[in-house]
Amino acid sequence: MTIRGDTLLYGVVGNPIKHSLSPVFQNRFFKTFGINAIYVPLEVDKSQATKFLKNAGYFGFRGLNVTLPYKEIALKVAKHVDKHAKEIGAANTLRFENGEVYAYNTDWIGVLKSLDGFCNPKSVLVLGAGGAAKAGIYALLNIGAEVFVWNRTASKAKTLCSKMGCKAVRSVEEFIKSVDLLVNATSANLDAELFNYDLLSEKVSIFDMSYRQTKLLKFAKERGCNVKDGLDMLIYQGIESFKIWTNLEARYQDALSAINESGY
Ligand code: NAP
Repeated sequence: MTIRGDTLLYGVVGNPIKHSLSPVFQNRFFKTFGINAIYVPLEVDKSQATKFLKNAGYFGFRGLNVTLPYKEIALKVAKHVDKHAKEIGAANTLRFENGEVYAYNTDWIGVLKSLDGFCNPKSVLVLGAGGAAKAGIYALLNIGAEVFVWNRTASKAKTLCSKMGCKAVRSVEEFIKSVDLLVNATSANLDAELFNYDLLSEKVSIFDMSYRQTKLLKFAKERGCNVKDGLDMLIYQGIESFKIWTNLEARYQDALSAINESGY
């Protein structure tokens, strides 16, 4: 692709952002459809995040993905907010048009599509109460699951649950045996032990939103649990964002090939 005067500009905003795989597959989508556009990683300082997200359209951006820790800010700067982003309380996709900011959440669709064919849970324990957890809870409630939430800062789980209609719990150990799916939506380090992993049994499926190998996934695999990492969620949320910007349906397989070729 040749970068020209009329090359369209997209990107992903977060901090840190160097680990992001979104540029790898979003650029592949543009190439596949023959669109002269570029999608870049943008590590924006906290002090400038609100200003940047509010004004990116004036600097030529057509669309942005927004990731940790700016999804709540992305929601606040938008004049037009999609119903799902509003209910979730976080936005991961922005579209800029005629000086106005439009916000969407596609993470919850990423969760729904990831669970399709993996697990049809009746009761779920979600770890975390940040933007990704909220999208996951929204998706799970949408498919009629009973949702329990544990968070390191318990008060955040309580507030979130009273808004969304789930149940905050104080102890993972107490609930792990009574659910059929455990979702890790924390940003804890890959080697963190969030609870006593000896309690994992093959009766519980594990969905870890991280797309790197966590200690939780490693333990769960060893225990014979049905496990899924966050790679499919990442790809599916990205396909939905691409559709919002272009009205085009990108292919899962294109994203996966681009990611595999990148040496991930
Ligand atoms: P966030 O809004 O910053 O929330 C982070 C959450 O993790 C909070 O609930 C926080 O608890 C908890 N946490 C952080 N460190 C912890 C620790 N050491 N022990 C226990 N809990 C801890 O982040 P987010 O946007 O929700 O992202 C969460 C994770 O999901 C990240 O790993 C992110 O990469 C992943 N994610 C994946 C996808 C995908 O497409 N696969 C999409 C979105 C996010 P406190 O409230 O106590 O601080």
